[in-house]
Amino acid sequence: MTDHQSTSNMAPKARRARALETALADKNLIPENYVEKITQIAEHKWDAKNGAMVVAEAWVDSEFRERLRTNATAACAELGFSGPQGEYIVALENTATLHNVIVCTLCSCTAWPVLGLPPDWYKSFEYRARVVRESRTVLREMGLDLPAEIEIRVWDTTAETRYMVLPCRPKGTEGWSKEALADLITQNVLIGVALPEV
Ligand code: FE
Repeated sequence: MTDHQSTSNMAPKARRARALETALADKNLIPENYVEKITQIAEHKWDAKNGAMVVAEAWVDSEFRERLRTNATAACAELGFSGPQGEYIVALENTATLHNVIVCTLCSCTAWPVLGLPPDWYKSFEYRARVVRESRTVLREMGLDLPAEIEIRVWDTTAETRYMVLPCRPKGTEGWSKEALADLITQNVLIGVALPEV
């Protein structure tokens, strides 16, 4: 079977990925089992649930919170979350008057170990262009209608620096377990396009 026949039923993106993989393999540029290994990690290890645990820990432990504010990379690693695209993580702390939101205007970077791979909308030209120019409107369209007195700060990810949003702990969650608190944190909350809801 030719390569064309074997990939003709695949979606365009999958075909392009296969073509790229074949070209790199032909030039011996892919180490053995690299694609399998990275796929395995992407599917099982890079997960927004990790970032949720980080936030929950920060909500219940003020000393951890301080460490997260001063060196998020090290604080996340304490909980076992580190690795590629997480070499320099910065936690952006929301306050009663400040809301943080993350974008990668160049492409689609997220802090993989704590946020997981980016959702499709995060990669769209529309989000990347508009959230910078009209953040309040974009957030409202995504279901987050912030009061006018809350300042919105947009953070543009770079190749080196990866962000995670540390939201305010919602009222009415006093005494909750870390697991229950972590359940309030979605990937959208960690990006800053949603707030934790009780
Ligand atoms: Fe990017």
